[in-house]
Amino acid sequence: MINIEKFWSDAKYELSKSIQAIYYEVWIEALEPVCFVDNTIVLSTVAASAKRTIDHKYLEIIKEVVSSLNSSITDVLVILPSQKEEYINKQTDSLVSPQSEKRPMADTQKTKSPFLDKYTFDTFIEGKSNAYALAACKTVADTPGQKYNPLFIYSGVGLGKTHLLHAIGNLICKDRSNLSVLYVSAETLVTELISVIRTKSNEENNKFREKYRSCDVLMIDDIQFLIGKDATQEAFFHIFNDLYQTNKQIIITSDRSPKELTTLEDRLRTRFSWGLTVDIQPPDMETRVAILKNKAAQAKFQLSDEVADYIAENATSNIREMEGLLNKIVFFSSLTNNVINTRELAAEALSDFIEDKDGAIDASDIIGAVCKFYKISTDDLFSKKKTKNLVEPRMIAIYLITDLLPMPLAQIGEIFGGRDHTTIIHARDKITDEIKTNTRIKITVADIKNMLLNR
Ligand code: ADP
Ligand code: MG
Repeated sequence: MINIEKFWSDAKYELSKSIQAIYYEVWIEALEPVCFVDNTIVLSTVAASAKRTIDHKYLEIIKEVVSSLNSSITDVLVILPSQKEEYINKQTDSLVSPQSEKRPMADTQKTKSPFLDKYTFDTFIEGKSNAYALAACKTVADTPGQKYNPLFIYSGVGLGKTHLLHAIGNLICKDRSNLSVLYVSAETLVTELISVIRTKSNEENNKFREKYRSCDVLMIDDIQFLIGKDATQEAFFHIFNDLYQTNKQIIITSDRSPKELTTLEDRLRTRFSWGLTVDIQPPDMETRVAILKNKAAQAKFQLSDEVADYIAENATSNIREMEGLLNKIVFFSSLTNNVINTRELAAEALSDFIEDKDGAIDASDIIGAVCKFYKISTDDLFSKKKTKNLVEPRMIAIYLITDLLPMPLAQIGEIFGGRDHTTIIHARDKITDEIKTNTRIKITVADIKNMLLNR
């Protein structure tokens, strides 16, 4: 049986190559996979107007992509959320035999470049926060296997890791077409290995090994997915050794440093630190604005300074999210023929959209996520109790609000039961310091942020 989430995510990846970013973001990203019914994939969208547009403009391309990934899926049906239950009841269990399932990512990579044209070094904006990582990636692209091996890049979500991998891939494919570059997300690696193990076939097993061992450059994106996947760690360990010993370049990305991948096997973690480890920090205002201007120019949109500042100030540090806001501005400008060029217009356009979607994070989301993470009640969080199990989540909630929302300190004090602003500053600064020295706190903050961003 096909995992519909994974299948749709592969399909989206393909669709993102052929649909312009703005339209992709607005129409395709908003589609949610529901189920398979006979040979049809059922997707749901938010509103009848969206369904009309998708049916009219995007159905053919979606059909084409899904059936190219799996020939037994020949149709696409877009429904509204109210119809979901009806279709889930009708869904077909064993849709496709595994043999007819094509694996889109790794398998097709040798024949055509898997790297997105839009992710190059030219479109990557340099700032203080990423300069070191960028320089390392350029060196590796120029001299694969010679200098920094492995190259380990880590950062929070949406800060450019995948973009840099594609940039390296694009450059190597262009300048050294004799080299074979393999890009694979750790998640795909896990799925692939599981299916190889299931077949119990030596031939499949050899094919798998051969594919990974014969490449000149291997990129594994989001290695943290290997946590808890022992069989894949084992397989990857051997691939790593073979490639390393023959001076083949290995590039790894992760949402945390090798040191912080605490539950990954030690022997892998040690190997990750043999080469160079670089991190990407959240971009400062200047870099955020420069990125927005560059993305706008790519979409041939005249972005005013005011609107660029507004987006850069109001988005979280996740650049993907910031881009999402820009795309909405571009899209609304094109819909109404009334270019959004002032702060007020931007605020209006974005708040409308954010209300419909569940994009914007507010203080109650942060508080909810912290309480969920620590398994405590909001009453306890706001209370004056000073027990250790409450002080830490309270400070983290305050820190996250100051970090993610443009909210005055006094107002935060009010939310937290009338505490004054010096208490808020103390909590904020304390966690800021702890993040630098205390790995557990750093990971906790990152995990809660991830919970918020992936709601
Ligand atoms: P990650 O893999 O770290 O989660 P991505 O590489 O997917 O992040 O980046 C998210 C989005 O932000 C992409 O559209 C990427 O092009 C953009 N982006 C991130 N950093 C930069 C940068 N320095 N310059 C231009 N675009 C960037
Ligand atoms: Mg990524």
